[in-house]
Amino acid sequence: MYLFVFDLCREYAGRIGALGMVRLAAGRYGYVGSARRGLAARLARHTRRRKPLRWHVDALTRGADSVGAIAWPWREGRECLLAEALVATGTGRRAVPRLGASDCGCSGHLLALCEADLDRLAEALSARLGATPLLVLRYR
Ligand SMILES: [Zn+2]
Repeated sequence: MYLFVFDLCREYAGRIGALGMVRLAAGRYGYVGSARRGLAARLARHTRRRKPLRWHVDALTRGADSVGAIAWPWREGRECLLAEALVATGTGRRAVPRLGASDCGCSGHLLALCEADLDRLAEALSARLGATPLLVLRYR
């Protein structure tokens, strides 16, 4: 389970699957994913700009600058708890309702980040989840 952090350097406006028209201001965002297996490959995919659109978030990461990622041990349903933890700790707010949540039914896995620093994010979210991070990764 992971939080992938990226910057949109300019406003995004476009259709994303069943979500319809999505508009996002430039800024720093966090995407929460599960990746029970293949965490490294999943994170690498998020950083690539050239890729087919498979998940909602692909439409955004194709035009984004990757910042980093924080991962915790996988547990059933924990990615939804992580999205909630971002809201509860004040480190994020939901950016697009339902984005990334087609399979789980929660309020959405894309958050606009209010805390830009990866270490402070890891600390606040780990405390909330009661879990120790597996890694804090920086792409730049
Ligand atoms: Zn969810």
